[in-house]
Amino acid sequence: MPKARRTISIHCARCRTLLYKYAKGGTGGLVKCFVERILQDRTNGDLTCHECGQQFARHWATSGKPAHRIIQGKVYVKGMTRR
Ligand SMILES: [Zn+2]
Repeated sequence: MPKARRTISIHCARCRTLLYKYAKGGTGGLVKCFVERILQDRTNGDLTCHECGQQFARHWATSGKPAHRIIQGKVYVKGMTRR
């Protein structure tokens, strides 16, 4: 089990709406979200912001695990620093 796991908030970069709460592992930047680690999904499940309609991610699969690949610049993240 990875030790460095924390909860981050993923927001729409355009309108600042909360999109996901996510249990992130590792220390790198956010590139993709594994669906199984999304703790709270405020979207309608179509990878677009439910407020402004901007698409922020694309469906992607790695090692057989469904994931959402974040489109750079479309989101901003809170909670990356360790408490
Ligand atoms: Zn938005």
